[in-house]
Amino acid sequence: MTIRDNVLDAIGNTPLIKLQRASEETGCTILGKAEWMNPGQSVKDRAAKFLVMDAMEKGRIAKGGTIVDGTAGNTGIGLTMVGNALGMETVIVIPETQTKEKKDTLRMLGAQLVEVPAVPYRNPNNYVKIAGRIAESLAKTKPGGAMFADQFDNQANRRAHIETTGPEVWEQTGGKVDGFICAVGTGGTLAGMAQALRERKSDIQIGIVDPPGAALYSYFTTGELAAEGSSITEGIGQGRITGNLEGLEVDHAFRVEDQESLDINFGLLEEEGLNLGLSSGINVAGAIRLAKEMGPGHTIVTILCDPGTRYQSRLFNPEFLREKGFRVPDFLTRKVDIDV
Ligand code: PMP
Repeated sequence: MTIRDNVLDAIGNTPLIKLQRASEETGCTILGKAEWMNPGQSVKDRAAKFLVMDAMEKGRIAKGGTIVDGTAGNTGIGLTMVGNALGMETVIVIPETQTKEKKDTLRMLGAQLVEVPAVPYRNPNNYVKIAGRIAESLAKTKPGGAMFADQFDNQANRRAHIETTGPEVWEQTGGKVDGFICAVGTGGTLAGMAQALRERKSDIQIGIVDPPGAALYSYFTTGELAAEGSSITEGIGQGRITGNLEGLEVDHAFRVEDQESLDINFGLLEEEGLNLGLSSGINVAGAIRLAKEMGPGHTIVTILCDPGTRYQSRLFNPEFLREKGFRVPDFLTRKVDIDV
C-alpha cells in the first residue's frame, strides 16, 4: 500500500478474485481480474493512460491540448480522467444508443460529449470516423495540439495489457494460469493478454467469447467475418479486424446468448456481491465454457470490466428486461417487508 503520485499512478494493480460458483461448477479455479476497481471504474483506464502517454512521447499533444476519441463510454471516461489530471481537454464522440449513466458520467467529468446516431463502421458518419475528423480539425487550431486517441487501431492500447495487465496476472497467480478468455471491443485486452501470457507460457490456452451480432466467432472458426443477431451488451461486439486484433490467434472460440450472460451477472451480484456490467457476465460465461473444454483442475482468468451501475437503467431494470424478452430475477422486484 504505497502513496501514488496522481490518479494515473492509481491505474492498474487490481485484485484477482476467485469466482465461487463458476469454479465449483467446473472444478477449475476461475479468477476475475477486478478492472472495475480502477479509478475510472473500467478496464479502459489502462488503455486511456497508454494512448495519451504514447501521444505525449511522440509530441502530438501537450498540456492545454485536446484528446479526441470515439468510444462506447468507458474509454472516454478513462481519457477524460487522464486528461483532467494532465491539464488537457477532452472531446468524446459516443453513439447515442449507449446508457444514460455513461453519458452523465462523461459530462460530469467535463468531457465535451458529442452524441451521434449509431451507424456501421463502413459509414463515413460512424462515431469513430467523426472523432478522427474532429481531431484533425482541432489539431490545426489548438495551441497544445489535438490527438485522435484511435483506440481501435492504435496499438498503444494493447501495449497497456502487454506491459501491465498481463504481467500482473502472471505475478498474482505465480505463473499458475492455464487459460485466458474475454470478449472484444477494440481487442486491446484480448490481444495484449494473449501476447503477454504466451511470452511467459507458450501453451497457455487463449479463448474469445463473442455476443450475438459480433463477427469474430465466425472469423476465428470459419475464417469469414459474419454476424448474426443482436445483443444488449455494450462496449463489446466487433465486426472487423481492428489494428489491436492484428496477428491474434486464439485456441478456443465461443458465442454466448445474452440470457446466459445476464443470468451469470445476476448470480454474481446476488450470491457473490459482485456488481458488474454485462461484458463481465459474458466473460465469465466464456471462462466456464473454456473450463469445461479444458477439464477440471485448471486455472482460468477473465476480466471483470466495469460496474453494473453503469447500466442500472437497463440491465437491472425489470421494465427494460421484460420489454426485451429477458427473465427478470426475483431480487429486482423484491418487496420491502419490514414494518417500522
Ligand atoms: N467491456 C466493456 C464494458 C468495455 O467498455 C470494453 C471496451 N470497449 C470492453 C469490455 C472490451 O475491451 P477491449 O476494447 O480491450 O476489447
